Amino acid sequence: MQFILSLSSALLFAIWHSFADSIAWRVWFAWYSKERKSVPNKMAFLFSARSACEHCKTPVRWFGLIPIAGYFLVHGKCHHCTRPISWRFPLFETLAASYGFVLTSVGGITPTQFIFALLVYGLVWIVMSTDYRTLFVPTEAILGLLLLALANLLLVRYPHWFLFNSVDLGLDLAVSFLWYFIFHLLRILSGYKMGLADVRLVLALGIILGHPYAIYLPGFAAFFAIGFYFLRRNSILIYAPSQKEIPFGVFLGGAFLILSLLRGGV
Ligand SMILES: [Zn+2]
Repeated sequence: MQFILSLSSALLFAIWHSFADSIAWRVWFAWYSKERKSVPNKMAFLFSARSACEHCKTPVRWFGLIPIAGYFLVHGKCHHCTRPISWRFPLFETLAASYGFVLTSVGGITPTQFIFALLVYGLVWIVMSTDYRTLFVPTEAILGLLLLALANLLLVRYPHWFLFNSVDLGLDLAVSFLWYFIFHLLRILSGYKMGLADVRLVLALGIILGHPYAIYLPGFAAFFAIGFYFLRRNSILIYAPSQKEIPFGVFLGGAFLILSLLRGGV
């Protein structure tokens, strides 16, 4: 029974990832890409456009939209222009499925927590994917995360917060706000090289993780960033949006996802 539950969760996360990824791509295309002026009605494009080939814009056939398997069913290429489809689609869909599998395997996750985890995952993916492409984090996504974080904190985790007698609630807020202020300080000390978005992101993700996991968030993120840039120095195959600036939102998001698994849900 537990296994079937985890398997369904894996499938749901793969589908949800695929959806979040297409939203992230449309946000980038309609607002930040060079061709953004070719999309007059951006909101309609965001929710109605069909998934299409990145090169020739031919719509992907229905079986190509199946998470993970779709890539192999279309033999990894567009049926119209035969140009290859990026391997990142099946790779990240597999990672999302693994995330969903592990999330429910550790046990004890309630349906509310599961839905919350799904929503948070979608927004975190949009942050990671947009930051990686453009060095820019959509403010709407951070605001969404912050609202979800507060809703979870006050309605689910500490429904009696108004009594102001919970030490845990205080610690959850203290840890996340501590990083928020330290990041502000780092931003000033670095001569504003760090984006304000990263400062806001660490607060939202910190509140969601709570103590003690939030303590490790920037450390994990820095560790991933160092690993990434070490790999990148040795491979021209790895894309980075800039030589000077670091898309720290990508690494904060990745660190958050790992820590949320260690926490056993969000
Ligand atoms: Zn094509």
